[in-house]
Amino acid sequence: MKGLGVSQGIGIGKAFIIEKKVVNISVNQTDDTDNEVRRFHNALENCKKETEELYIKTLNNIGEKEAMIFKSHEMILEDEVFISDVETKIKNEKVNAEFAVNEIAISYIKMFESINDEYLRERADDVKDIMNRVLSELMGINTIDFSKMEKDSVLVVKDLTPSDTAQLDRTKVSAMITEIGGKTSHAAIMARILGIPTVVGLEGIVDNVKSDDIIICDGKSGKVIINPSEKQKQYYSNKRKKELNIIKQLKKQIGLPTVTKDGFTVSLSSNISSPRDVDSALENDAEGIGLFRSEFLFMNRNCQPTEEEQFNEYKEVLVKMKEKPVIIRTMDIGGDKEVSYMDIPKEMNPFLGYRAIRVCLVDTDMFKTQLKAILRASVYGNAKIMFPMISTVQELKDAKKIYEQAKDELRQKKIPFKDNIEIGIMIEIPSAAIISDILAKEVDFFSIGTNDLIQYTMAVDRMNSKLAHLYSQYHPALLRLIKSIITNAHNAGIWVGMCGEAAGDPKLIPVFVGMGLDEFSMNSPSILRARYIIRDLNKKEMDKIADDVINIETAMEVEKYLSCIFSESEIESRLCGNMKYNY
Ligand code: PEP
Ligand code: MG
Repeated sequence: MKGLGVSQGIGIGKAFIIEKKVVNISVNQTDDTDNEVRRFHNALENCKKETEELYIKTLNNIGEKEAMIFKSHEMILEDEVFISDVETKIKNEKVNAEFAVNEIAISYIKMFESINDEYLRERADDVKDIMNRVLSELMGINTIDFSKMEKDSVLVVKDLTPSDTAQLDRTKVSAMITEIGGKTSHAAIMARILGIPTVVGLEGIVDNVKSDDIIICDGKSGKVIINPSEKQKQYYSNKRKKELNIIKQLKKQIGLPTVTKDGFTVSLSSNISSPRDVDSALENDAEGIGLFRSEFLFMNRNCQPTEEEQFNEYKEVLVKMKEKPVIIRTMDIGGDKEVSYMDIPKEMNPFLGYRAIRVCLVDTDMFKTQLKAILRASVYGNAKIMFPMISTVQELKDAKKIYEQAKDELRQKKIPFKDNIEIGIMIEIPSAAIISDILAKEVDFFSIGTNDLIQYTMAVDRMNSKLAHLYSQYHPALLRLIKSIITNAHNAGIWVGMCGEAAGDPKLIPVFVGMGLDEFSMNSPSILRARYIIRDLNKKEMDKIADDVINIETAMEVEKYLSCIFSESEIESRLCGNMKYNY
């Protein structure tokens, strides 16, 4: 089977399937209602224990915010009204516990779903989750949760949300396969940050695989093999050994400057979603953080993070990074990043809707709180602020005005902050790219967000696996836009980086060097390979390549042209030296 490889590497292991089971609940009349009430309480107790374990595990492996979701589940399991409603139903109607739980939970779910409040509607999902777990306990069906996952599991799931991904234990997952998703869906981005080989868009995989089937997942080619032959196993385990050896060889790049043979220096930074990603950034010798997706601090919780909570998170990153630059992007909620407690209505086209800076310019209190938290943390390191999804000059001016108000409020309270931190914007909307000469006069830097720039330029939803062939970073339209953004930035005397996924693409790195990009920010596991490539380039030769690609007709031809110039297999064989791999 073949899907879309979105996070490279080979994963081999037993299938761990996550599917929503449809359980048939039948009604049984009984006189022994005391026994049914007892069974209900036993099931509640077991679920509570399981929830507590999940809480501790998530707290230790991931963080407090993510763990809080299980605290809210615990509250539902202890809810006196829910418990007494189920007991009354069992006793009055003389029915089995499963039936009573199902009926009561469904009435709660319906009630939550009918309320015109996003947060309360989301609670319906929590009740569904709890209901399924209590029913599974009562019926002796194995529930599936991440805590039951064994080492070297290959996760097979229909859809993976960013919050699911946040709960994964990296040490147990050897690969992931999903039916839905695109290369730059946020779950795919997180998989790359975590270094988990991942294939998405493999329709029907959940029905085609049984638990404990052996699966091979090639996160680069997108190939998935179910119950491979001995020969195939041998082939892929050798391929995996080769990849691990390449990683070992690339470690030799640590400490070297990122400079071309003819002296053009660029900066190589890391994209992170939380302070815990900083360790991997430093292990891979990131020269800075080019994109801190701060919106992840707002997710998997019941309310907005306070100024103090945010301050602590930003400070932790800045302190860990010492004097290295840290670009904190103000929150970019919306699109595929949902936040239940915010008043973001369901929209026909969420990626074209109420998102990122558009939300911040309406909910100015929330925006100011975030800016104050960043400003307060700025004294602990080298912070820069970046606004996402800017499409007009007015939006930028409005954002800067709120930023000045945040500063004034801190000044009035005599709270220290750095007054001269750099302000930048993401260029990820075609309108911004086209007027980048005007926008450049207003900021200290740009960072090109190719993930969104591709989707808006090509009119292709970045999550849509059916249209993945159109969503291409090699399209000459995109490359022309990138070239003009870089030129406009340099003409205005500001520096320009790129934090979209294209920045780490080995085939495009030479093109962007030729265009004069100053900073490349990518997921940490890609950094040392990028340094190896850049140190092998000659800027003058790349100038010519950058000029050539924008005149090629199609994305496919651009990719083919670049594959001739840059052969990944040649680099790999150079890195592996004389080692022989039989595959
Ligand atoms: C981008 O759009 O390229 C980007 C880096 O932002 P995000 O992926 O978070 O939308
Ligand atoms: Mg974006």
